Amino acid sequence: MPLASAERQVAAVAAVDLSEAPHGGDFGRALSACGAEPLRSGAVEILQINLGKLCNMTCRHCHVDAGPDRADEVMDRATVDACLAALDRTEVHTVDLTGGAPELNPSFRYLVDAAVLRGKHVIDRCNLTVLLSAGQRDLPEWLARRGVEVVASLPHWRRRGTDAQRGDGTFQRSLEALRGLNGAGYGQGDPRRRLTLVANPVGAFLPVNQAAMEREWKEGLRREHGLVFDRLLVLNNMPISRFLEWLEASGNLASYLELLVNSFNPATLAGLMCKSTLSVSWDGRIFDCDFNQMLELPARSTGGTPLHVRDVSPQTIGTRTIVTGRHCFGCTAGAGSSCGGAIES
Ligand code: SF4
Ligand code: SF4
Repeated sequence: MPLASAERQVAAVAAVDLSEAPHGGDFGRALSACGAEPLRSGAVEILQINLGKLCNMTCRHCHVDAGPDRADEVMDRATVDACLAALDRTEVHTVDLTGGAPELNPSFRYLVDAAVLRGKHVIDRCNLTVLLSAGQRDLPEWLARRGVEVVASLPHWRRRGTDAQRGDGTFQRSLEALRGLNGAGYGQGDPRRRLTLVANPVGAFLPVNQAAMEREWKEGLRREHGLVFDRLLVLNNMPISRFLEWLEASGNLASYLELLVNSFNPATLAGLMCKSTLSVSWDGRIFDCDFNQMLELPARSTGGTPLHVRDVSPQTIGTRTIVTGRHCFGCTAGAGSSCGGAIES
């Protein structure tokens, strides 16, 4: 697809005329207006490792452009070992595994075991349906024994919203996977079996209140399917990759960007995930966040150079300037959005 090129995506978003919008639609100017330019990182607490673009699904909103055809872009064992060595050189307390479907990486269980052995909190960002794939049926129990938090994406607790975004039949398969997780003890208040669901709007609008949505989802899933989970995180859709393609194709790009810029909320800046998270791509390159990774905007070391995970140390990554762009309005709109959900509750 034409938008598969990161350069083309950045150009498509930059080309929208937002001169009449606040700060001219320029994220740097928005930061300056509240005295926050340049955006700087704090200590790195979370290493988010993208294990590759291979996925069993091809969702319409995917910012990774992941799918079954991306089998060549998967993290190898040497890079996994470099990530583990980086953990030993830093004060990172959480290892956040994402993809694609991270479980499809042949080194997934090796990495989880090694991170747990180091006393790290491990998160598996799971699309649910992968748990029904060949060789993965035992995964809920396996993860539960290691105290891994499962952060599972489900666009909506009703069938229509989920299938519209992820394909027909996804909702039923997601329910089956949730049953397996509940059966392994997930979602019932045990901090070593925490089940977090992640939702994002099915369209070009911002999510409503996260706490209210959580109440509705808990009630709906319990009442209609007998399923439970611990918490719901709500994310804004980012104007990147397939969601950007959809915005362009549906004629919603300009209005969605205007919405993001008009909804700029300075109170979200302190909680942006790029302030405390470092993102590693499948080939070991370092980014300030997963979105910058998809846009090929590498993080700069304190010395101003791009970094590989082999080079990560408190000296190279300590308070660095974060690389930002117009897409960053996606993280600061409304209640804000990060891998931990809404920033302002
Ligand atoms: S959104 Fe998640 S599950 Fe869907 S294609 Fe992308 S990585 Fe796979
Ligand atoms: S996209 Fe979001 S997380 Fe990434 S650098 Fe911009 S504001 Fe930070």
